[in-house]
Amino acid sequence: MQLAQKAIKKSEEEWKKVLTPEQYHVLRQKGTERPFSGNFYYNKEKGVYTCAACGQELFSSNTKFESGSGWPSFYDVISNDKVRLKEDTSYFMNRIEVICSRCGSHLGHVFEDGPAPTGKRYCINSVSLNFKKEEEKGKKGEERK
Ligand code: FE
Repeated sequence: MQLAQKAIKKSEEEWKKVLTPEQYHVLRQKGTERPFSGNFYYNKEKGVYTCAACGQELFSSNTKFESGSGWPSFYDVISNDKVRLKEDTSYFMNRIEVICSRCGSHLGHVFEDGPAPTGKRYCINSVSLNFKKEEEKGKKGEERK
């Protein structure tokens, strides 16, 4: 049985202390990094993508695909309880925002134009993610951006 994830709650002042200004802007202020600017768009290594704010495992490299968008794209989440989805009507668009279920940080958006088998495209900011390479999984302190 999986243990219930404990929610992580920090004040915005606390988040500012532990995140870089760019991370803070995207994760806590729902910013968007410039396309093709992030660390992970071209990453093809095998491993797990985690939330850059709280470390929760979010996406597997097995579901990553090249979307042409300039942002890391996945057709599925590791499990649905890792994210919360929220309607986002900002910038005169109708989008579904993807939020880390553990710490409430903004990750990106999900669209319905992804590949099989789900048809979903989770379009995620690189700056919202860390990456754990497969062979490094489980080793402490081996996370890299
Ligand atoms: Fe998180």
